[in-house]
Amino acid sequence: MPEPSLPKNFLRRLKPRLPEMLATLRQFVSTESPSLEKAAADRCCEIIASAWRNRGARVERIAQKHRGDHLRVTWWPHKSRSAGQLLVLGHYDTVYATGTLAKMPFRISAGKAYGPGVFDMKAGIVQALFALEALQQSKTSLQKRLVFLWTSDEEIGSDSSRKLLEAEARRSDAVFVLEPSFGPRGLIKTARKGVGEAELIVHGRASHAGLAPQEGINAIHELALQIERMQKWNDLRRGVSINVCKIEGGTRTNVIPERAKAIFDLRALHATDMRRIEQRLSTLSPILSGARLEIHGGFSRPPLEHKISAGLFARAKSLASQMGLALGECTVGGGSDGNLTAALGIPTLDGLGAVGDGAHSAHEHILANTMPARAALLAALLAAK
Ligand SMILES: [Zn+2]
Repeated sequence: MPEPSLPKNFLRRLKPRLPEMLATLRQFVSTESPSLEKAAADRCCEIIASAWRNRGARVERIAQKHRGDHLRVTWWPHKSRSAGQLLVLGHYDTVYATGTLAKMPFRISAGKAYGPGVFDMKAGIVQALFALEALQQSKTSLQKRLVFLWTSDEEIGSDSSRKLLEAEARRSDAVFVLEPSFGPRGLIKTARKGVGEAELIVHGRASHAGLAPQEGINAIHELALQIERMQKWNDLRRGVSINVCKIEGGTRTNVIPERAKAIFDLRALHATDMRRIEQRLSTLSPILSGARLEIHGGFSRPPLEHKISAGLFARAKSLASQMGLALGECTVGGGSDGNLTAALGIPTLDGLGAVGDGAHSAHEHILANTMPARAALLAALLAAK
């Protein structure tokens, strides 16, 4: 553990930096970075890269063909003495298409900073940048190499960044995820549900509904029966939820439909439940005679189980209390890249980023004056042995 005064020391340094933090945030938010628009995302990537370069960190741009480039930032001041690595993880892409800024420009009003991606999660990147600055200026001797990874496709499933962030996590002793915190008190996300999507396609047999109903196999009827069956897998108390979110099937009246399809949202808080659902899905059998089922998909992000974050949360809580802050924790239903690093067994603490509300919506904002303390907390976590 660091000296008891270290978190307070960081906070004292960072409080006067708030105007500079907000100026940097304005710059990051005012450069739109939709996951699906590479050219725009790359512009934002370069702005973020230069902010880190200006702090003397080593910045590598990991080129991507279809997505924005990923950024790997390393800070390793005393190479000979460092053993091990800490990973700070986040994404700079947002769910907002180019042009959103015209409707929701970056603005600060009544202590809140608004704008696309401000909360999820550009403020988190700014906090990490100033955490590094505080570490540098206080000349804190770091025990471990620091790697900051800023990816470009978290909001669309991390297909292009998954291998990279998993490899980086495997080299790390702990992962700190700067996704938004939860609620006005900035709760840390110490458990996240695993998330998946399954597609069920039913093949029946078409027939004239009037002339030969006995020859038809109604794919919609079969699908309805399967939905009813899967609905029973729900166990909200255990954090298991299965929801059919989209259905389609049939062509017109008069025709017994030969095809129907449904898409299911899958959530589970525990890996054992995730595996049970996947097993049930893979062994799903038809109910109507002659119907055939086709099943695709499954869980894409395993759960971030509480046990993987408990130790880091205890440390964070104690560091926060040294700054006079009460740090709370929560469980959330949504996944992040923290789910991926946790699934590798690497201690992971998620939701360390900004305090605010309205992610992915028109009123997305952060509470501006919480930024220095959140940055100080991260600096203290990175300085800890
Ligand atoms: Zn996010």
